Amino acid sequence: MTCVETDTARKRLDKLLQGESREKHVTTIKRILVTGGAGFLGSHLCERLVGDGHDVICLDNFFTSQKANVAHLLDHPNFELIRHDVTMPIWLEVDQIYNLACPAAPGHYQFNPIKTMKTSVVGAINVLGMARRCRARVLQASTSEVYGDPEVHPQPESYRGSVNPIGPRACYDEGKRAAETLFMDYHRMNKLDIRIVRIFNTYGPRMHPFDGRVVSNFVRQALSGADITIYGEGTQTRSFCYRDDLIEGLIRMMNGAGDFIGPVNIGNPDEFTIRQLAELTIELTGANSKLIHEPLPADDPTRRQPDITLAKKHLDWEPTVPLREGLAKTIEWFRGIDIDEFRPPTPNY
Ligand code: NAD
Ligand code: UDP
Repeated sequence: MTCVETDTARKRLDKLLQGESREKHVTTIKRILVTGGAGFLGSHLCERLVGDGHDVICLDNFFTSQKANVAHLLDHPNFELIRHDVTMPIWLEVDQIYNLACPAAPGHYQFNPIKTMKTSVVGAINVLGMARRCRARVLQASTSEVYGDPEVHPQPESYRGSVNPIGPRACYDEGKRAAETLFMDYHRMNKLDIRIVRIFNTYGPRMHPFDGRVVSNFVRQALSGADITIYGEGTQTRSFCYRDDLIEGLIRMMNGAGDFIGPVNIGNPDEFTIRQLAELTIELTGANSKLIHEPLPADDPTRRQPDITLAKKHLDWEPTVPLREGLAKTIEWFRGIDIDEFRPPTPNY
C-alpha cells in the first residue's frame, strides 16, 4: 500500500471518529474479534468498528492480504493485530466475532484446496468454541457460492443450491456450506447467538490487485493497457455490491435485535453480464484495451443475483451505490497504488 492510501485511510478513520457516520444501532462499546481482519472486507470492517468506538482485535495469517491494509489502525489504542491461523485454537475474551478468515477469490482458494476446507470448517469450529465459552455473538461470512450454479433466479435464502461437490470450486463452496451447518448446530445445541450472512460479489478499494477476481483483473488490465480477459463468452452474470454497502449490511446483521439469525443475502441485485462489466471498465478508465476470450473455468456459475427481500424486511438494508459509481471509485484507488508493492499471494491471477 502506498503512503497516499495510508493517508486517505487515516483521514477516513478520523472522520469516523468525529462521529459523522456512526452506526445508529450501536449503543455500547464492545470487544470485537474480526478474523480475516486484514483482508479486503475485514480491513474496512475493522476501520468502521474502531471508528464506532469499539475495542477491535484483528486476527489474520496474511495469506491473501498484507499488513499495509491495517497499518493506519496500528497506533490506535482500540486496535490490536494478531498474526494467527484460524485453524489453530486461540484463547481470547470477546463480545462479538465476525468470522471472515478464508481466501475468497477462486485463484486463491483453489491454490491449496485442502487448506481452504480446513480454514472454513476447523476455523468455524474454533470461533464457535470461543463464542460458546465467551457467550459472544458470532457472525459467519458465508457466500452466494452456497447456491453453486443456481437453477433458481434470483436466489432467495430458501433455495438449497446446486453445488458440484467434487469440482474445483467445492473446497470453498462445500467448506462454506459445512460452516453454515456448524453454525446452525451450535445454535440449536448450545443456544449460541449466531448470525449468517451470504455475501454476493463485493468489490471496491483495497481489493488485492492480484486476486484474479473479475473487477480487479479488468481494472488492472485496463489501467496498464493490457487486453481484458473475458472467460467464456462473457454472457455469465454477476451482481456487484460496493464494499461500503456490504459493511453496513454486516454491521446491521450483527447488531439486529430480535430472533433473525439468517441466513440473509447481502448483495446488490443489479445484474450485469461480464461483457457489460468489461465495457464499463473500458469506458470509465478511457483505456484502449481489447476484449479477448479465454476458456471458462470449470463450474463457473452462469448467473447470480441476490433476492434481498429478507435483508430489506429484517435489516431495513438495501444497497445505495450503483456499479458505475462504485467502479469509478475503485478505478481511482487502483490509479493511486504502486502495484510493485503488492505480492501476488498465488500464481493464479
Ligand atoms: P480476502 O482474501 O481479502 O480476505 C480474507 C482474509 O482472511 C485475508 O486477510 C486472509 O489473509 C485471511 N485468511 C485466510 N485464511 C486464513 C486463515 N487460515 N487464518 C487466518 N486468516 C486467514 O477476501 P475478502 O473478499 O475480504 O473476503 C472476506 C470474507 O468474505 C471471506 O470469508 C469470504 O469468503 C467472504 N466473501 C467475500 C465475498 C466478496 O465478494 N468479497 C463474497 C462472498 C463471501
Ligand atoms: N472472469 C472473467 N475474466 C477474469 C476474471 C473473471 O471473465 O479475468 C469471470 C469469471 O469466469 C466469472 C466472473 O468473471 O464468471 C466472476 O469471477 P470472480 O473470480 O470475480 O468471482 P466468482 O463470482 O466467479 O467467484
